[in-house]
Amino acid sequence: MVPKNKGTGLKIGTRAVWGGEEQPISGAPTQASIVQSVSFGYGDLDDWQAVALGQQSGHIYSRNTNPTVAVFEEKLRILEGAEAATSFASGMAAVSNTIFALVQPGDRIITVKDTYGGTNQLFREFLPRIQVEVCLCNTTDAEEIGREVRKGCRVLYLETPTNPTLKIIDIERAAQAGHEAGAVVVTDNTFATPVNQRPLELGSDLVLHSASKFLGGHADALGGVVCGPQHLVKQIYHYREITGAALDPFAAYLLLRGMKTLEVRVARQNANAGEIAQFLERHPAIERVYYPGLPSHPQHEIAQKQMTGGFGGMMSFVLRGGYDAVRAFLPRLRLAHRAANLGSVETIVGPPATTSHVEVSAPDRAAMGIPEALVRYSTGIENVQDLIADLKQALEPFTKPAHAHSTGDSPCESC
Ligand SMILES: *Cc1c(COP(=O)(O)O)cnc(C)c1O
Repeated sequence: MVPKNKGTGLKIGTRAVWGGEEQPISGAPTQASIVQSVSFGYGDLDDWQAVALGQQSGHIYSRNTNPTVAVFEEKLRILEGAEAATSFASGMAAVSNTIFALVQPGDRIITVKDTYGGTNQLFREFLPRIQVEVCLCNTTDAEEIGREVRKGCRVLYLETPTNPTLKIIDIERAAQAGHEAGAVVVTDNTFATPVNQRPLELGSDLVLHSASKFLGGHADALGGVVCGPQHLVKQIYHYREITGAALDPFAAYLLLRGMKTLEVRVARQNANAGEIAQFLERHPAIERVYYPGLPSHPQHEIAQKQMTGGFGGMMSFVLRGGYDAVRAFLPRLRLAHRAANLGSVETIVGPPATTSHVEVSAPDRAAMGIPEALVRYSTGIENVQDLIADLKQALEPFTKPAHAHSTGDSPCESC
């Protein structure tokens, strides 16, 4: 029996490779097996009962626990430096189960306006239905967040960087205010990943992820996870056992396989995104670039303080020429999927009007500070020179004066 390596003292890249992956028995497979079984059998009824009551370790039914899924949870627990972790069928299952497990009618939640689209809808549509009051603060207004938190709340829900304009919340400052009010502080760390930012170390009680994005990294499996102290994770796990939003063992396997390269991928995406953001900021066809690593970003200093591993692979930018320009520009890119996803090894682009904020009306998007000519860019691990060359050729028609703007998709060189 090889002693279990709890990941303490190991660097993040080593944790991503080895976390939860120890080989316990001689001759056993070195890789986590896909245990594709709904239930687990027992010859002895006393053993069965002991496992069912949690007095003995083992698995009963895969909606509750499964060996492949358990390896995934252990890897995330180690990556986030948490006491416990539990997993879900998707990121939205992680968000919704976490919140519903923590609140009851009459409770108050403080959060920000720029949360992920699905999360925002949960706050606006489903929580008020069960008499949970949700207060949506301006994302970068730390004073307002503090003021609302001090009025009392059960949960303070944060997400940083945000989608699609990459706003940054000071986690340490918000968490401190949350704790003074006795709130449970939850942070969605999907955009940053544990490589770039570790909210638990900054005072957040819980950290959650859509594993479908950077964690899995290959856009081939959905999943979610929440990590934190045992007593909170247990409460959320208990809720998830009953809602049934369990992670599938095959998805867990794909996510585990992806996560071994997490640090390598994210380091490359950080570096690529940094170079591309600088290139775009200087480009005449670009009105504005949103990237927390740029000194021009309004919360660059907070990002520097809390994103200790890097500024991430996500950015967005505004094209001169409005939505028409975006419609003409996006099909010109050769090295990008045009899709409603992010965090993969391939570069992925899309306008918020058709991806993250498709349910929001154009006037509401404007009110939320989302320009119609915004492009969300999820940087892949391709060679950065190729990505920049691709952007350069795709932006070509918009670099020229007025005539190229309106239709644009086949630039006329002669006129
Ligand atoms: C995608 C995403 C989610 C939801 O995750 P799914 O796996 O798609 O359900 C939640 N939060 C953020 C920040 C996301 O990007």
